This record gives sequence, structure tokens and C-alpha cells, in this order.
Amino acid sequence: MGKKNKQFVEKITAMEDDFAQWYTDVVKQAELVDYGQVRGTMIIRPYGFAIWENIRDVLDKKFKETGHTNVAFPLFIPESLLQKEKDHVEGFAPEVAWVTHGGDEELVERLAVRPTSEVLFCDYYSKNIHSYRDLPKLYNQWGNVVRWEKTTRPFLRSSEFHWQEGHTAHATDEEASQETERMLGIYADVVEKYLAIPVLKGRKTDKEKFAGAKYTLTIESLMHDGKALQSGTSHHFGSGFAEAFDITYLDENGDSQFVHQTSWGLSTRIMGALIMVHGDNRGLVIPPRIAPTQAMIVPIAQHKEGVLDKAYDLRDQLKDLVRVDIDASDKMPGWKFNEYEMKGIPVRIEMGPKDIEKEQVVLVRRDTGEKEFVTLAELPTRLPALLEEVQTNLYNRAKAHLLEKTNVATNMDEFATILEEQTGFIKAMWCGDLACEEKIKEDTLATSRCIPFEQEKVADTCVCCGKKAKELVYWAKAY
Ligand SMILES: [Zn+2]
Repeated sequence: MGKKNKQFVEKITAMEDDFAQWYTDVVKQAELVDYGQVRGTMIIRPYGFAIWENIRDVLDKKFKETGHTNVAFPLFIPESLLQKEKDHVEGFAPEVAWVTHGGDEELVERLAVRPTSEVLFCDYYSKNIHSYRDLPKLYNQWGNVVRWEKTTRPFLRSSEFHWQEGHTAHATDEEASQETERMLGIYADVVEKYLAIPVLKGRKTDKEKFAGAKYTLTIESLMHDGKALQSGTSHHFGSGFAEAFDITYLDENGDSQFVHQTSWGLSTRIMGALIMVHGDNRGLVIPPRIAPTQAMIVPIAQHKEGVLDKAYDLRDQLKDLVRVDIDASDKMPGWKFNEYEMKGIPVRIEMGPKDIEKEQVVLVRRDTGEKEFVTLAELPTRLPALLEEVQTNLYNRAKAHLLEKTNVATNMDEFATILEEQTGFIKAMWCGDLACEEKIKEDTLATSRCIPFEQEKVADTCVCCGKKAKELVYWAKAY
């Protein structure tokens, strides 16, 4: 052991002092990402990617259970193809990265690095859908896309990110509606049950909907600092893209019909939500159901005879029950405690000579820091139960925070006061006019997050103009 015990991991900024810096510190210290060479790009490191893989696996299973198959489409989109749907290209043009050369030769036509793949799927569908027998087409792809963002932050807004994008084609508008809702339901389910993040479900206003969509459904979550994060979206395209790309099929009567399409996506942005919903001043807190390591064994006084053997035995006993690992390195236990707290590992198992004598271990849960002594005999039932308790507590804690930070405003003075003093979601009635939505954004920087499925009438008049209100909207400052 060196004279200077470098026992403790580097400190991170307190979230109360500077939330943005806290976020950056955690992302770095917990070894989730490094910055790439090109501005706004990120290297997702092994621990970060292991978390994403667990999220991906849960989603992928649910996609397959609902009849979807995975495909892989190209990275490049010819400019002429991207321009086929007017609203779509207008929405994405400012963020497109272009390829102009192949080797030394200038290309005849510029190629967009895909910012999203609607047009590629549409082009394919126009050639491969002929009859009602070819429908529905239920495709998904896991991949990366590029959007040239001006201001970037790891996971939240990066020039390149990983995601899945589903693209489906249906015979009727009704079937496409059902698909749009089904996939939003899967997102909400996975984010709530696995990531322990409560969400609001609703529809985007026309201003905030996806470029080219008939409507967009969204799940919105609330971060620790009171800002909202759009966490997954599902779009109904109607037959807009089908008309632009001439995607038709012959129905049972032999008549030509346009298909009805959807697309839906969830990206590595959700990693940002995971960090900002559950994290604290000791670092990450990862919900057990998606934690790459659910329990970390830290041997105490491991130089003493028999300690390491017992610790390895324990690992072998538990490894079929939970995702367990052991740190038998020669670093000090204090260093290890800090390191695995930083990484958000849900439960730490301490085992030293005294514990071995008493045939017990110490369990320390990451979410509350509480310790408990558990006998080796009880451990195989207690540990999985404790992990479920941590999972439930994380969800309940986040839900309480969301409810506490959701307030009603009936006029713009109240709206501004809530934003200043409470942050969080503001429930307010809206007349449906774009002008009011734009004015609210201009005056307060809050945007409409969603028109919730669960509507309430908190007032009769629009929070902005005072005219007759049409519906309830959730507003917030957002990432
Ligand atoms: Zn209004």
C-alpha cells in the first residue's frame, strides 16, 4: 500500500451548486462516456454501453413479442430522396451532415448521413409493397444517426447518437393508430418498470410534432432539477409519406390504396434521464432491473486467510440469482465503496473475517445507504427481494418528485412564478392557437411538453390569451 492512500474517488460538484456541472462530472467519473474527436460526438465506454445494452435488450424483446423484425438500412441518403417529403426535409435540413466526396472525386449528388431513416424505408416500401397481403410491414432497426447540433452534451444532445427506429406500414389509418399507441405503451412500460422513471403520456402539439407526421405521441419525464426530458416518441404519418413516395397496395377488391405509416424511436438520450432522475451527490444510482452489476462484493481485510476464498464462494453461490461481481483488487475498501457508489451499483455486499465467523454479510443499498446484516442462509432470498425494494423505492421517489413539481397555473403571472420558484411541470389550459404557444415560449422559455391523454379542466380559459380553452397542456423548460 502506498504512503499516500488515494482512497477516495475524485469529488463531483454538488448538484445543488451547479446541476449541469454535476451531470458532466458524473458522466465522466462513472466512466459512462468520453468525448469524441469531432465536436459533439461521444465514446460510450464499456459501463455506459452495458447499461444501454440492458435497455436495448428489454425493448428488443418487446418489439419482437409484438411482431416486429429487425433490419439494417444504409447510413447514406441521396439528397433527392431526402427532399421528397417537404415538411420532413424542412424539419431536418439544418441538422444534416453531407458527404460531398468519395476519395478525391466530387460526388454527382450529395449524400446525407441519415438524421433519421423515414425516406429510406419509404423508398423501400414503395418497391416492396404491392398487395394487401404484403401488409402490415413491421420493421425496426438499431443503429446510429447524425444530427449536426450546435450545442451538445453527452447523451442529451450529441451530434451522433444510438437508437432504435421502428418503421411500419399498414392497410388502414386505424391500424396505424393502434400501432402508434401500442409502441408508446411499450416505451412507457419499459421506462417506468425497468428504468424506474415515471412518465407523462400524451400527444405533442402541432408545433412540437415530428416533421411530416400527422401527430406525435410522447412520453415525458422530469429531471431532478425540474426540467423535462422527452423520453420516447411514436409518430402517426397517416398517408402523407405514402403519397409523396407513391407507396400503394391493391386491396381485396383490386383497388389501389395508399398505405398508412408510423415511426417510433427511443435513443441513448434516455441515459441522460437515468442519470438526472436517480443520481445524487455520490454519483449514479442505477435501477436494479437494468444495472449491469446488481450487487458488488467487497471483501474486508482480504489479506487475512480465507477471506478471499469465502468471497469467491459467495459470488459463485449468487451468480445464478443476481448479476453479481467481486472486487478483489488491492485497493482500499473505502476506495471501492466510493467507486461503486459513483457507478450506482444497487447493492454492496461487505464480507470480512468477523462476518465469516458469524456466517453473515453486510448489505448496503445504494439508494438510501441503509445497512443490514443478513445470514448466509437467508441471503439467496433476501438479496433478490432487496433489489426489488430498491427498484420500487427509486420509482416511488421519482414519482413523488414529479407530483411535487407539478403545479397548476391559470394566468401568466402564476405561470412565471411557478417557473421561477418551483420549476417542474405546469398544468395550464390552452386555446389551441399557435400564437399563444409561441408567446409562452418567448416569454418564459417553457415549451408545451404534451397534451396529456388524461385530460382535466383546471380552468375555463387559455392561460395566455384568456379566450375559451380547448385542452389541458403540460408545459416545462426542457432539455
Ligand atoms: Zn390562447
